[in-house]
Parts: sequence; C-alpha cells; structure tokens
Amino acid sequence: MRYSQLLLPTTKETPAEAEVVSHQLLLRGGFIRKLTSGVYTYLPLGFMAIQKVTEIVREEMNRAGAQEILMPMVQPGDLWQESGRWKKYGPELLRFQDRHSRDYCLGPTHEEVITDIARKELHSYRQLPVNLYQIQTKFRDEIRPRFGLMRGREFIMKDAYSFDADDAASELSYERMREAYYKIFERCGLDFRAVEADSGSIGGSFSHEFMVLAKTGEDTLVTCTACSYAANVEKAAIAPPEACCADIDTLPAMETVDTPGMKKVERVADFLGVSSCDVVKTMLYIADDQVVAALVRGDREVQSVKLKNILGVADVEPLPEEDVWKRVQLPVGYLGPVKMDLTIVADQEVMAMATCITGANVKGTHVKNVVPGRDFTPAHVGDIRQITEEDSCPVCRGTLQLTEGIEVGHIFKLGTGYSEAMEATYQDSEGNEKHFVMGCYGIGVSRVVAAAIEQNHDENGIIFPMPIAPFQVVILNLGLKDDAICEAAEKLYLELQAKGYDVLYDDRDERPGSKFKDADLIGIPLRVTIGKTYAKSGDVEIRHRQTGETVTMAYAETVAYLEKNIDQALV
Ligand code: ATP
Ligand code: MG
Repeated sequence: MRYSQLLLPTTKETPAEAEVVSHQLLLRGGFIRKLTSGVYTYLPLGFMAIQKVTEIVREEMNRAGAQEILMPMVQPGDLWQESGRWKKYGPELLRFQDRHSRDYCLGPTHEEVITDIARKELHSYRQLPVNLYQIQTKFRDEIRPRFGLMRGREFIMKDAYSFDADDAASELSYERMREAYYKIFERCGLDFRAVEADSGSIGGSFSHEFMVLAKTGEDTLVTCTACSYAANVEKAAIAPPEACCADIDTLPAMETVDTPGMKKVERVADFLGVSSCDVVKTMLYIADDQVVAALVRGDREVQSVKLKNILGVADVEPLPEEDVWKRVQLPVGYLGPVKMDLTIVADQEVMAMATCITGANVKGTHVKNVVPGRDFTPAHVGDIRQITEEDSCPVCRGTLQLTEGIEVGHIFKLGTGYSEAMEATYQDSEGNEKHFVMGCYGIGVSRVVAAAIEQNHDENGIIFPMPIAPFQVVILNLGLKDDAICEAAEKLYLELQAKGYDVLYDDRDERPGSKFKDADLIGIPLRVTIGKTYAKSGDVEIRHRQTGETVTMAYAETVAYLEKNIDQALV
C-alpha cells in the first residue's frame, strides 16, 4: 500500500478522552475513530490489524475441527424467553421492538440462536460432535464503556459452540478448544495466562479465561508461586477460617460508643485502640433492584461477583453514597448489621469473629462487642471477599501473587442448561431422545488488538507483534527528488508485495522526521530507509521496531533479510 493513497490520519496530540495507552495510540495512529460512546469505526489500519487476528483465529478454529457460520445480529425476544435469559440478562441486553410490537434484541452472545439451529438441524448421535463458530459484531450496552476497543459496546467477537452426546465427549471438545486458544494467543505474540474463571451470565459449570498480562487490565488474576493454580479473583476460593471457639454466654453485651466524624474503618479502629481487622465493614449494594448489605472484616474488600453468585442475582452494583439516605434512610459511614432491616450477606470470616465493632446505624455512633450470630443473623454466609497475597493457595497452601490482566478469551462448559430449557435433543444409538451437552468459547477479537498494544508499546508508539501487525514492513523513501532512490524504493516495494508480504511504502512528500515518527507510532515491526546513504554507497538501513537494532546492508541483500526476519516471526 502506498502511504500517499492510504487513509491514515495520524496525530501528534494525545486525545484527552483516552485514559489507557492502547486507546491513545489507536486514535493517534489513525486506527479507529469514535462514532458514539463505545462504538468505533475501524479505519484501514485498524481493520487490517483486526483481520490479522481474525485470520489466526479462523485458521486455528478450522484446524480444531470447528465450522464457520454467520448468525444474525438481531435476535427474537422469544428465544430469550425460552432460555429464561430475557429477564435474567439485565440492562447490557439492548432490547427493542419492531413495527408489530414484537420483542427483539441485539446479540451480546448467541447461545439461544445456536441452540435453535441445533434442535432443528441436528437429530442423530451420528451427526455429533459439532462445533460451530462465527466472527461477528456483538452489542452489549456496557454500563461503563471505556478504554476504546478494550470495553466497547459494539465489538468483534469470535464465538464458538460445541454440541456433544455426553459429558465425556463435551470435555474433549472443551480440551480441543483450550488447546486451540493456547495456539491462537501464542501465534498473536501475546504474553498470557489461562485461569479458572466465574461463568457469569452465560451460565454453566466450569470455565477458563485467557488473560493478557498488562497493568491496565480490568481483571485481577491470582497465581500460585508454588503450583500451577491460577484463577480470576472473582472465582478464587478462600478456605473457611477456623470457627470461633469462644463461649457465646461468656461474651460481653453490646455497647454503644460515640465516634463523631469517624466514617472510615481505620479512624474508628485508631480511636477505639483496636486494629482494622476487629471492625466489620458494612457495604450496601443494589442486587437487581433490592438493596442488600455485605459484611466483611474491616481490612478486607467485598468481591462483588462472589456476592452476586451467593445471592443468585443477575447484577450487583455498589449503592452510590449519595443514594444511601434516599434508598434506606441510613447514615453513610455508620452502617451496621444490628437491627438492620435489609438482606445481610456476611463473609465467612466475619462469622468466625468472637466480637466485632460495627456501625450503629446512627450518625456518629458505633457498637462494640457485637457478636455475629448472637446480635445479628445474616440471610447468607459464605466467601464474598477478595482474595489477597496474604491468603494461601487453595490447592497447595503456597504463596499467592496478584497480577492485572485483560480477558481476551473465555471458554465455558455449559452442560445441558440451554438444551434443556430450549428442548434441544438428538437420538442416541438406542433411539432415546437426549439433550445436547454444550460448550461455548469466546474471543474478543477487537480487544486482542488493544491488549496487544497495552503489552507492546514505548514512548514513541505501538510495537506490534509481527503476526498481527497491519504491515510487516514500512519502506521510507527519503529522496523523492532523487530518481535512483525512488526507483530502488519502488522496486523493493513491488518485489516484497509480489512475494505476498504486507508492505507500506511511505512515498509521501514529508520531512524525514515525520516519516520516522509515523512509522514508530503505527508500530510496523521492520523499517527500511532508503535515502542519502543509498545515493552514496548503495546501502539501505533496516531497523527493528521492537529492539531498536539497526543494520545497514547492500540494497541487493534487503529482500532476503526481510523475508528471513518476517518468516521467523510468524509462527
Ligand atoms: P468482561 O468480564 O470483560 O465484561 P465477559 O466475561 O462479559 O467479559 P464473555 O461473555 O466471556 O465476556 O465474552 C467473550 C469475550 O469477548 C471476552 O473474553 C472478551 O475478550 C470479549 N469482550 C467481552 N465484552 C467486551 C467488550 N465490552 N468489549 C470488547 N470485548 C469484549
Ligand atoms: Mg462483560
């Protein structure tokens, strides 16, 4: 591609709206443009990177025996009623009606549509196993679309669905996908980990997430330094603490204490001469529409996905402080479970405390000597707190490490949840009707591009891994007025292109400085400079974007050198 003819609107300024580096560089590099909140156009370079990822995904899915299809993005509400998710899915599902007042939604995922296909088209065990996938635009009305391609409302996903005769066969399908995912993310040049994960609103019994390690990741993963345990903190189980052995009858009675202006756990603890772990924190959440109270020890944090799972609701969000009085007439900073008229969920650790300090539900007041189980009774008790590096590995008791990650892929064992709800069956070898055992497997194709940039950049711009770079080589012509230079640059460009490489030829009438800057910004792995040196000695300069290594060589050697370096980097 000739740069002079390419829509590649790079900019120097960092856009104010972009908080993370991938978003900044994708905008500055002319890869994407925002249409509206969480919805982007992929300009040529952006779309090329997306297509590189798409091709890798497609090759590995096909190699793993999956078949590509394309399902509609618009889905009838009836199917979602059948699966039970019309009510359960929550506001991320964008619902609308057609002119006949029939319900529809934009597909955030396709379990319903694919199960409908399976029940109509797959009848016999002889047709199984089947794995169908698509690469397609999804819509989720995310509550906080942000970070550009990382969390869009409209984004590109690869979603695959497996149908098997029984659990054992379904496990094989799952394993095949797990292996394919390792290959895909390795081939994309990413540093990633597979972790045990929560199944979320998709449902199912077991799942793994593939996480790209990056500081800006919205997910936190916990890994054991001694064994292979790795999990999303949303899932990471904490062993129950030892039960409290104090004799309830010997414990002192509750006592109210004045704590004026002390809304924070640390201040209350300091004031009362105790430590934060002697205080119980009461946090309010909106669970679907109901306000609930979650209790954790003062030095702990609530893990909202665990809370959501224990409550069995679709959505849990913190109740904003400014809404607390309006919703429940209780004073922020002084909340406590004693005589509280809300559904209370207590962390298992709270119930193991002999006594604790809590808010008194009266401004400026706390209560001492509160005995969990004696002075309040939670509706639910369980593991609802965030795991920490002080906890030990649930598998081997080893030391844990927390790391930030970006979820680029997610695989689920679904079981028969959807096939039972939607009556999707096949006939086994004895003629019995059986429900399909399903699995589903997603990859955030557009998010992969953003994640790759989060992991591979420097102060000058993107450093694309070769396999997903929009172009593999950029040729800078620094002598537009010199016929020999132009001829050499043109010839190299055409030769590489004829060999099937993706080459950007910077033939613009621009200062060398801006050509170098743009080449760095858009992250092309190999840069060939043809300029004064060539005019003098016939040499060209090749620079590797990732290492900064620069080599000068005779023009005649360039093609072979580039070929070798590109081919090596494509696994
Ligand atoms: P998240 O926890 O990040 O919201 P999810 O668990 O809802 O993700 P899945 O339903 O498993 O996501 O979707 C499959 C894949 O689609 C994810 O692994 C992720 O890479 C991608 N994805 C999900 N939501 C978005 C989004 N809003 N923008 C871009 N990619 C997304
Ligand atoms: Mg999500």
